[in-house]
Amino acid sequence: MNTVRTVKVGGDYHYTIAIGADLLADGARLAHMLRGRHALVVSDGNIAPLYADRVEAALRAARPDLVLQRFVIPPGEQEKTLARFGECLEALASLGATRDATVLALGGGVVGDLAGFAAACWMRGIDCVQLPTSLLAMVDSSVGGKTAVDLPAGKNLVGAFHPPRAVIADTSTLRTLPDRELRAGLAEVVKYGAIFDAHFLHWIEGHAEALLARDEAALAHAIALSCEYKADVVARDPFEHGDRAMLNFGHTFGHAIESEQGYAGTTGEGLNHGEAVAVGMVLAARLATALGMAPTEDADRLQALLQRLGLPTAIPVGLAPESLLARMRLDKKADARGLRFVLWTGAGKACITSGVDEGAVLRVLTHG
Ligand code: ADP
Ligand code: ZN
Repeated sequence: MNTVRTVKVGGDYHYTIAIGADLLADGARLAHMLRGRHALVVSDGNIAPLYADRVEAALRAARPDLVLQRFVIPPGEQEKTLARFGECLEALASLGATRDATVLALGGGVVGDLAGFAAACWMRGIDCVQLPTSLLAMVDSSVGGKTAVDLPAGKNLVGAFHPPRAVIADTSTLRTLPDRELRAGLAEVVKYGAIFDAHFLHWIEGHAEALLARDEAALAHAIALSCEYKADVVARDPFEHGDRAMLNFGHTFGHAIESEQGYAGTTGEGLNHGEAVAVGMVLAARLATALGMAPTEDADRLQALLQRLGLPTAIPVGLAPESLLARMRLDKKADARGLRFVLWTGAGKACITSGVDEGAVLRVLTHG
């Protein structure tokens, strides 16, 4: 029996997230999302050989009149460039894509961001259906409409808000996801429990082994709940003017680590995004404790859970606290009142705070 869970993203830009096994073979479901005759499947060199044939065959069976093409980039964050974005637009041109064409983003966050941005720009915006294949993309980047490419000057500097027409998360694809990527995705799952739902956090503690063992039911539950929380925030604040910033828990520290190490995580040498966020959440929890806002036991508990999930919880050696602090001052989230943090106030709760004392931040960066 195939259970398909659906999560609705409400508000002005509403769409549905479907979560379940073997959804990429469900041609009727995929075809239902296409308004016109043209579709471009965008994927990367790891994922396309595994899943693109399946998607295309299912679509062709359901819609024999479809004009379908594939655009594949090499895997890795270093490919999220303006050059690849240009190639993706060229692929849409050679497909003869009209205003009712659809981009199908089949892959992790890199593919989703790049393909989503191309869809946002082609003829001023066409439909993008997100088909996330990494856990991180399923619980985070495929939902909410943030699309972007990187510049040498920094990550995600050029992009657009372009909500997807639908998100279809086939949990069967997680079987081939590398272990390290699975754990990185679990960091973002823990984030939702940590800031929104103490009960969910407790559930993750009880299912850590099942999640690591890729138990389908456990993963589907974790994905669905994470998406519900993300959908809720995104519907209220689609353009991140307020509440949506809560999702940046652990990210001020995490982004500083990522940029200070030069996004080495993308080449496998440093921390990847989920790992940097794991460290960042522990630091944010420690900062809240230092400011008297959260109990020490809760921060200890968060750290222990992340460790059980095989995630790092300390700043990698070689990254200087002062340099990390300097990175944070440059962060998009810093504003005129100084450093802005999502501070943890204990299991299931968090708040956004501006003007955090830099001395306290430096102490946490130095001593953890
Ligand atoms: P993320 O999804 O973490 O934001 P990427 O898009 O770079 O980042 O995906 C992480 C890595 O995992 C990439 O090398 C990608 O090709 C690979 N990948 C993603 N999904 C799968 C999958 N289902 N099976 C195998 N490899 C995958
Ligand atoms: Zn993140």
